[in-house]
Amino acid sequence: MDEKGRRKWIYAKNPKGKWFNKRAFFTIAWLAFFILAPIIKINGEPFMLLDIVNRKFIIFGAIFWAQDTFIMALLMLSFVFFILLFTVTFGRIWCGWACPQTIFLEMIFRKIEFLVEGDYKQRHQLDQASWSAQKIFKKLLKHGLFILMSIILTNIFLMWFTGPEKLIQIITDPIQAHLQGFVIMLLVSAVFYWIYSFFREQICTMVCPYGRMQGVLLDKKSIIVAYDYKRGEPRGTKEGGDCINCQQCISVCPTGIDIRNGAQLECINCTACIDACDQVMEKVSKPKGLIRFDSIEGIEKGHKSIWNTRNRAYSVVLAILLGFFIYTLFTRPDVETSILRVPGTLYQVSEDGQVSNVYNLKIVNKTHDKMNLHVKLVTPNGKIKQAIEKPIELGIHERAERVYIVEFPKSSLSHGKNSIEFGIYNDKGELIENVGVGFLAP
Ligand code: SF4
Ligand code: SF4
Repeated sequence: MDEKGRRKWIYAKNPKGKWFNKRAFFTIAWLAFFILAPIIKINGEPFMLLDIVNRKFIIFGAIFWAQDTFIMALLMLSFVFFILLFTVTFGRIWCGWACPQTIFLEMIFRKIEFLVEGDYKQRHQLDQASWSAQKIFKKLLKHGLFILMSIILTNIFLMWFTGPEKLIQIITDPIQAHLQGFVIMLLVSAVFYWIYSFFREQICTMVCPYGRMQGVLLDKKSIIVAYDYKRGEPRGTKEGGDCINCQQCISVCPTGIDIRNGAQLECINCTACIDACDQVMEKVSKPKGLIRFDSIEGIEKGHKSIWNTRNRAYSVVLAILLGFFIYTLFTRPDVETSILRVPGTLYQVSEDGQVSNVYNLKIVNKTHDKMNLHVKLVTPNGKIKQAIEKPIELGIHERAERVYIVEFPKSSLSHGKNSIEFGIYNDKGELIENVGVGFLAP
């Protein structure tokens, strides 16, 4: 912000150098994963899919259903601990290298901007200049490309929730057939466009809660992008430190900060200042690494050890969580059944003294084989009244829903809630799963 509290627009210099090249390779791999993960098929299913409508989630090829909430919770918890461990140890490296916000802004939208409007000086001059045919052309071209890229990214993002086939169907069908999806796509595209055209780095410096957590997560041993003040200061003097006060590290910074002021909330560890300073050091024949990946302790004492009590403790918790997750994943049943009394219903009593309850059955085949399943009452002796007596035929990873009416003689029941048990059997008559539910009687 300037002295009056107004936003200072950042004209960051186009970064170049060894670290930028590494980030560019990583970005290509990241974007390939982002685009291909919902398209690649393993055993006929996508590698990644978040099908919220059908409550089916495929993560790295493993399928999770709504009934797998516990396993999903374990996975999420493991992910949170992984992020904590990673942040305590390596600082905000996620932000600079793998966060979608940084990848989209720094590696796609800013690159478009550099291409159309030029590097930081030309862009600054263009914005200061009065409107001319050339300025209008450049601005229209840049914002046109931004809108196009926002729409493309939104469609890829939506593919993670719909899968590629459904997405193509939505795109090719008339708009009226998917009006809701179309409106969502437009809104998400508009948000993307607004963020990458105008709001930009403020997401990292003002909005993102992860950025705000750095103050409590980082310590003196965390590896961050750091300025070696011992070597660099006093800056800009002939007999002084190595920093020649050229300010290249500031002009290249996408969040507009001066890394020489120490670790800051706004630093996303993008490494642009490392590259800029290394190039300066090369020119003045001084050793590279005045700005580098190091810990505060590493700079103070000259040696670095990434281990401390916190990341050791997080590692142990993460190992336990992951072990438990893998165990529950591989021992989960082949078939997942949930049977619940139809909401809002109690019981019915017929003239011949039979009491009945109505149940909803939801069943999922989690295997890669087709299954024919039979539902029977295990205890107590009673009757399932079904409209169709055929077995439930389930294809690979298919779900089915049925309604059952269960009936007992009133004399065999206690007042209020009774316990009954269903059994799910395969074609060979083998019991696959038992499901206990309550039965209401007058
Ligand atoms: S780029 Fe390096 S030498 Fe130049 S001001 Fe920054 S830290 Fe100092
Ligand atoms: S200080 Fe350096 S690493 Fe941090 S955001 Fe700025 S350029 Fe990137």
